[in-house]
This record gives sequence, structure tokens and C-alpha cells, in this order.
Amino acid sequence: MKKFNTLLEAVEFAVTRCNSWSFATSNDNYDVKGLLVLAETSDSENPMDEDSFYVVSPAGAIGLCEDGEDIYWLFLTGSSTDEDLPTTLQTASQIKFCSKCGKEIILGAGFCGACGAKLN
Ligand SMILES: [Zn+2]
Repeated sequence: MKKFNTLLEAVEFAVTRCNSWSFATSNDNYDVKGLLVLAETSDSENPMDEDSFYVVSPAGAIGLCEDGEDIYWLFLTGSSTDEDLPTTLQTASQIKFCSKCGKEIILGAGFCGACGAKLN
């Protein structure tokens, strides 16, 4: 899972994955523009600690990792309910992605479940 030092960097990556998000603890919804504006405001008002960083899930959900261990998911995507979001960085690092189609693959699987590419 990629690490981002600012929310804006995380959002700029997430927008390549999906185009709408909902805030995890409320019913607020964000489109690409809304999320970019929010990220810029958040970065200027709440600078990150050195140890903290953001992560982005394969489907575009954005999480915050403050201690290098636990992931707190901030923005969920429409497909987040189908996505098994890892709650710790250790779990996240065990998730592998298909080199052909980029979909998440099951650890130890011989073939990608999405496109059928052979995996090493
Ligand atoms: Zn694949």
C-alpha cells in the first residue's frame, strides 16, 4: 500500500481510482473537486506529524496511519463495503496486486481472480 505524506497527495492518487467518497464518520459525500479542496484545507490547517502518513486502498478509500501500525479509514468509496479494508499496516502489506490488471489478489493464489493472469 502506497504511503502519502499529505492528504492532498493521497487524494491526487485516489482520484485515479474512483470519483466519489463518503466521510467514514458522517454522511458527507465528496466528489473529486470537493475532496481536493478539503485536502488542501486540511493540509494547511492540520500539518501531519513526522510519523503519520496517509494510505490509499486499491479502490480509492483514504486512510490515516498515525503510528505506523493502525490504519484509520477516513474516506470510503462506493465499493468500500465490498472491499476488505485492512485495519493495520501489517495486514495491508500482505495484500498483493495483480501486475497485469492491478486488482487485489489472494495471497498464494496461482492466478489473478479478475483477469486470469498467471502470478509468480
Ligand atoms: Zn489481474
